[in-house]
Amino acid sequence: MSAIDRTPLHAWLGRKLGLPASSEPGPESLAAYQLDKLRHTVSYVRQHSPFYRKHLAGLPVDVLGSLPDLARLPFTTEQDLREHHLGMLCVSQGQVARVVTLNTSGTTAAPKRLYFSDADLETTLDFFHHGMATMVQPGGRVLILLPGATPDSVGDLLARALARMQVTGVVHGPVGDPQAALEHAEGADCLVGIPVQVLAMAEQPGADKLRGAIKSVLLTTDYVPQALARRVEATWGCEVFEHYGMTETGLGAGVDCRAHQGYHLRAADLYYEVVEPASGAPLPPGEEGELVLTTLTRSAMPLVRYRTGDLGRLLPGPCPCGGFTPRLDRVPGRLSNRLNLGKGDLLPMWLLDEALFAVPGLLDYRAALRLQDGGYCLELTVQAAEDVHPTLAAEVEEALAEVSALTHGDIAPGPIEISHQAWSDDGTGKRSFLSTAG
Ligand SMILES: [Zn+2]
Repeated sequence: MSAIDRTPLHAWLGRKLGLPASSEPGPESLAAYQLDKLRHTVSYVRQHSPFYRKHLAGLPVDVLGSLPDLARLPFTTEQDLREHHLGMLCVSQGQVARVVTLNTSGTTAAPKRLYFSDADLETTLDFFHHGMATMVQPGGRVLILLPGATPDSVGDLLARALARMQVTGVVHGPVGDPQAALEHAEGADCLVGIPVQVLAMAEQPGADKLRGAIKSVLLTTDYVPQALARRVEATWGCEVFEHYGMTETGLGAGVDCRAHQGYHLRAADLYYEVVEPASGAPLPPGEEGELVLTTLTRSAMPLVRYRTGDLGRLLPGPCPCGGFTPRLDRVPGRLSNRLNLGKGDLLPMWLLDEALFAVPGLLDYRAALRLQDGGYCLELTVQAAEDVHPTLAAEVEEALAEVSALTHGDIAPGPIEISHQAWSDDGTGKRSFLSTAG
């Protein structure tokens, strides 16, 4: 028996693979299952989706002799989700239980649209149910700080999944007023929310009253700066877990276990490849590149080799928890969420996140890079509580100086503005650089 609780997704995967209870899932049984599901998915979309029929035309029927053969198929792109979503639909409109429309903030591009059937939503519920067993026990109470007002929205699905394990899920919704959310958290032993919003709650006066009561926190929808997670842990003495997923994965995709060494993937439903972003060439396990997703069990709108735009790497070797499922290393964010400094230098947002969220009192920030005298100037607006200490700006400057990309690159520190107003985001919980305008 491992000293660390094994991820409940290990036993879940064994059941999904149809293995007898006496048999453990392993690389061979998973590979055989995934190859079978990939073949089914490819044949299914060629039969039911006008888009994929055309997209995959010319490929032999038995194109998938082995898992690596998947690389012979063309990619599906975000652009395809904008322009051809109806052609990607494999069921009648009457069989669609939920449509999710995703607008890209600040652009006039057509929205991405994704369709899910009842069976698709059921696979998400099942993953949420067994994934949440990592951190909550029957009889527990979870405050859900995610959108949940609409049927089949993420918060609604999570609450229903929790009910399957006799856990009460209370949907609060995204945090507009951290003090009100904190009051609502009384009686909960687990919180699920967006990193900066949960941090704002943890930094409220009186937040430490819930110390010992809140035993676990699951952070999701955006990159989780480790400095931020440590501050949340420090307030409540809780264990912080992380979830990775996107609408395209059917919301859930992976969750870490008590070993906290990567996300155990939802491998019965999702197949991941990692490719070199520029060439699209497959990369070996352990190397970082763009995550490419193929759905294995989706019926309304399966995705074949979808370029997620997220950076990541698959972790080689077994997890210390003893659980077998492929693991994804912490996802450092979107390929697009990096400022191009020229000469091949990139400043990824996560690097700033790690430096800045370590500053006590900082709740959130916005960064913009401006051209100035042939170089770049980094302007920051920092959000902090009203009673913030007078040295905050100096501490932010100090933290910035630690970021090696800043000290090596041609970036001058610009003005640091302190704001006490929480800004409203676009509702997705995703943070990004404001602009690279000159
Ligand atoms: Zn594990």
